[in-house]
Amino acid sequence: MPINIAIDGPSAAGKSTIADLPAERLGYIHLDTGAMYRAVAYNALKKEIPLDDEEAIVSMIDEMELVMDTDGDVILDGEDISEAIRANEISMGASEVSKLQKCREAMVTMQQKICAGGGYILDGRDIGTVVLKDAPVKIYMTATPEARALRRVKQNEEKGLDADYQTILEDIIKRDYQDMHREFSPLTKAEDAIEIDTSDMSIEEVVDKAMELVNEVLGE
Ligand code: C5P
Repeated sequence: MPINIAIDGPSAAGKSTIADLPAERLGYIHLDTGAMYRAVAYNALKKEIPLDDEEAIVSMIDEMELVMDTDGDVILDGEDISEAIRANEISMGASEVSKLQKCREAMVTMQQKICAGGGYILDGRDIGTVVLKDAPVKIYMTATPEARALRRVKQNEEKGLDADYQTILEDIIKRDYQDMHREFSPLTKAEDAIEIDTSDMSIEEVVDKAMELVNEVLGE
């Protein structure tokens, strides 16, 4: 049976890119778990549900039809929200709803169900510590807030989204703090995860390093 791979780290550390390329090489599927919290925040904002109203958010999740396409598209109640969930406002909103224990439980259950057969690379904040505690490959990616902000600026420019460096840097620092200090499943490196600091590494170097770790486990 194919294995599952866990990638965690703070926002804009390059987790998605580093999950995408090895997934392609291995014939695995990349599940972006952050996009699921983003979809919850997007829906709550649309329905004007306060992001800290746990009961209302949970009932909303029960009603939501969320499809995480195998090619990375996020479909909510039949609407493709893949681009819309990348807005800065949704990033902060996702960080808010992800504090709610019941919201986390619902997302974790969904994620574990999706990857039950193996062959998935999951990226997020609690993959190595909660969702895939037994994953044979766990990677913890970091980079300085400044390096991450620069990368996000470039990505946003390419997508035609807000790309003000200072705003993005401040959001990253604020989100790091929230994600690392929340009560339930705060972002932390799993004891058995391998840390990669990508601040001064190219994408190719990071992908090679990730593939080296995977191939060690697969015995290739
Ligand atoms: O990875 P991304 O930046 O898209 O995630 C958006 C937010 O969702 C994060 O800031 C974090 O608060 C939350 N998240 C989480 N657990 C995950 C993935 C994302 O709490 N596994």
